[in-house]
Amino acid sequence: MNQPLESTCPACHSGTIKTLWTVSAKESAQHFVRAESDTKRNADLATHIAKLWGQATSSVVNCENCGLGFAQPFVAGDEQFYNLAYPGTPGYPVEKWEFSRTIQDVKKDYSNHIADARCLELGSGVGNFLMKLTEIGIKPENIVALEYNAESLRVLHERGFHGKAAHISEMARETFDLIFMFQVLEHMDDLDGIFSRLSVLLKKGGSLYLAVPNLSRTNFQEHNNTLLDMPPNHISRWAKSSFEAILKRHDLHLREFEVEAGSFVSFCLQDLKYYTLRQSMYPNTLASKAYDARQSLKRKFALACVAMIYLFRRLPLWLRTSGSIGELGGSVWLKVGRR
Ligand SMILES: [Zn+2]
Repeated sequence: MNQPLESTCPACHSGTIKTLWTVSAKESAQHFVRAESDTKRNADLATHIAKLWGQATSSVVNCENCGLGFAQPFVAGDEQFYNLAYPGTPGYPVEKWEFSRTIQDVKKDYSNHIADARCLELGSGVGNFLMKLTEIGIKPENIVALEYNAESLRVLHERGFHGKAAHISEMARETFDLIFMFQVLEHMDDLDGIFSRLSVLLKKGGSLYLAVPNLSRTNFQEHNNTLLDMPPNHISRWAKSSFEAILKRHDLHLREFEVEAGSFVSFCLQDLKYYTLRQSMYPNTLASKAYDARQSLKRKFALACVAMIYLFRRLPLWLRTSGSIGELGGSVWLKVGRR
């Protein structure tokens, strides 16, 4: 089956598109599961990715009008893709910058009537952010959590939330004061479908909070030989003007936009980790040889040695970048209102 190619930008509908890079299904599969580590899973993943794309390659393109980056074909990973690419139970962080930034804002807006606020979260995981909402007085029975992972759904129910294995398009016409989408949008296709639905589900005067990866950080990684932001896991990358363009078409508007501040130490540690992972995807690199060690302790020791060597290789880049690391935090945070 051939997937439709987007000839226009899914955010602003402009047709001025420039290709950033092209990748084969085989290269994409190698990004998620090294063939040297699990040959069968890698091959199954490559076959499945090609089937999702309806072709052997995908390009990541950039809209020259609004700055949205998106994959062509514009198709999201499905359940089988995630099962193959990320086997095992997913781990969810308890603390994130966007969690605390949002809680601070919700407390400010709902100081008097917080207990009555109706909330919806898309991609809730086990509900770590939602627990923070309950700590400031929102009742779990007023919270709907959309999540596909069966084990996460079990935990959500245990915690008293209305967990549903549903897509936003399947939601009934109930409305919410607060809607949350953290690190979810970049995985989704049919952007007009999503934002038109959000516009219906959000009460007038309510707030939609989003967090997505920071575009400047993604660009830095891709220009400096660390991990590519690989489809079909992430299929869009967002500039502020891309949000403004799509929100406007759906009676929504951007109220606040903030970039997470980067810190030198966490930036360098993540860069080292991503550089090592990228190197491990190529045969005969030091990282690849370290990953090939069969014994876990031996592998850890080899990886620590390789990281030390790579640290000296990356140090000049870190020093050159030190002045702009503040703008290279991991996420951007948005508060959106309904017209
Ligand atoms: Zn655009």
